Amino acid sequence: MFFCDKMEKVHMTRADWTLIFCVFAAAAGTALFFLQGGRIGQERVAVVEQDGQEVYRLPLGEETAVEVFWEDGCNVVSVDGRGVWISYADCPDRICVRQGKIFGGGQSIVCLPHRLVVYLEGAAGEETLDAMTD
Ligand SMILES: [Zn+2]
Repeated sequence: MFFCDKMEKVHMTRADWTLIFCVFAAAAGTALFFLQGGRIGQERVAVVEQDGQEVYRLPLGEETAVEVFWEDGCNVVSVDGRGVWISYADCPDRICVRQGKIFGGGQSIVCLPHRLVVYLEGAAGEETLDAMTD
């Protein structure tokens, strides 16, 4: 009797632990999902470099635009919640404007005449930085 009773208790305990584990795992998974979503949204920053110097850091998530001057030239770098692009430039080739919006993934916008480089940090991370550092 004692033996059977003990076995039953052990069995119950294991079932309880399995249930607790399942609930915990589901909760942790859900929390992680929201945490990561929030973190990625907040950490993504458009970095504007001119002549190798970081001149602007524009967090994505608010629509804004900055003017970046180079000698007698100018670029307008715009960001919104999803990406960054050069909305205006008076450089001769306008390649930077034609590159359109980038959403990360190692992409970058380069304006050679104005020595301007724009890339997203947080989405592609170190790889982009290393590629840009000559
Ligand atoms: Zn350009």
